[in-house]
Amino acid sequence: MIIKPKVRGFICTNAHPVGCAASVAEQIDYVRQQSDLGKGPANVLVIGSSTGYGLASRITAAFGYGAKTLGVCFEKPPSERKTATAGWYNTAAFHAQAKQNNLYAETINGDAFSDEVKEEVIAKIKADLGKIDLVIYSLASPRRTDPVSGVTYKSTLKPVGQAYTTKTYDTDKDQVHEIKLEPANDDEIHNTIKVMGGEDWERWLDAMAAADVLAEGCKTTAYTYIGKELTWPIYGQATIGKAKEDLDRAAAAINGKHSSLLADAHVSSLKALVTQASSAIPVMPLYISLIYKVMKEEGTHEGCIEQIFGLFSDCLYGDSPTLDEANRYRMDGKETNDATQAKIKALWDKVNQENFHELSDYAGYHHEFLKLFGFDINSVNYDDETDPMVSW
Ligand code: NAD
Repeated sequence: MIIKPKVRGFICTNAHPVGCAASVAEQIDYVRQQSDLGKGPANVLVIGSSTGYGLASRITAAFGYGAKTLGVCFEKPPSERKTATAGWYNTAAFHAQAKQNNLYAETINGDAFSDEVKEEVIAKIKADLGKIDLVIYSLASPRRTDPVSGVTYKSTLKPVGQAYTTKTYDTDKDQVHEIKLEPANDDEIHNTIKVMGGEDWERWLDAMAAADVLAEGCKTTAYTYIGKELTWPIYGQATIGKAKEDLDRAAAAINGKHSSLLADAHVSSLKALVTQASSAIPVMPLYISLIYKVMKEEGTHEGCIEQIFGLFSDCLYGDSPTLDEANRYRMDGKETNDATQAKIKALWDKVNQENFHELSDYAGYHHEFLKLFGFDINSVNYDDETDPMVSW
């Protein structure tokens, strides 16, 4: 099969196995080049392990610290006529590299919100690993079926309280325009909290503690985005922000309930960057194109792997990690500091249809977007016949 990108709106509906493998290899190389790793995890569970921040967490744990990793993801396998999803190919590439390096790697592909997958994971831990000392929670999903009630909840990306009119960039039409986002109603806020809040993170830790597969002093973290004034109306103070606030509640609940295990739960705030999840959020492609421009000029630009490597070495396993007032690890300072935000705000106020490509780094954004699916990578010849039937 000749595989070229099929982009539809904010998603690419296919993926390139060789390109995905190249991008996984690049992240592994980055981690290998770091020195002074110090102490780190031994047995790691990554929930949401196949793309974005979760994949970077798995790569850091395995190739940085030599940890055994068990991953959970929700990806589509390939068929003779259709490629797999990018996360499937990333996982296959990760497994191949782990095998070459004698690193334990297993992945369970299924709905992490379900009790069945939790049971399957626990059985796998008991059989292969004994106990887990780091649980990374990195799910991004538009819906969740609550295993207790059987109700399926859908998340929404809407402001809270009042309508919000702002600029956005339509990647399909190459257009900067205004959008008015209507506020969410109470049900929409509640449903978003059910999907992206802390309930499922807490259920994972409860189930693992009950099955006695958490090591004493086990660390766990769930990822959040806090941002600043420019994104607050659509993220921090919007439906998704309300859900993310619930992670803070869950972290405290996990620490309280599992104190006899000396469990150590923190939310980690990471910077905005291009992933499958963030490209679906209105306003984010415009905001990210502008921060890429500013942060590349400042020399502070980072991708998933740099952020997560820093999280492990400075926070999770650092000697004096910085915590904010809500007990969260903060890796977002290079984006959210006042000086950088002022530069972004100045561009934001000026940006329009005519000057968008000049003021922003949309070229960089678009390259990163295609790369998520294994495209636009120099070392890959996209005219080559490629077998989509890759597995792990
Ligand atoms: P992503 O879309 O790249 O990754 C999501 C992962 O979740 C994938 O591995 C996917 O397979 C898995 N997943 C989704 N639904 C699942 C299900 N039902 N069962 C099992 N696995 C499932 O997203 P990302 O951007 O890396 O986001 C991960 C976390 O980081 C999210 O909590 C997100 O809010 C947070 N975060 C993202 C950004 C950003 O800018 N991208 C910034 C800060 C924090």
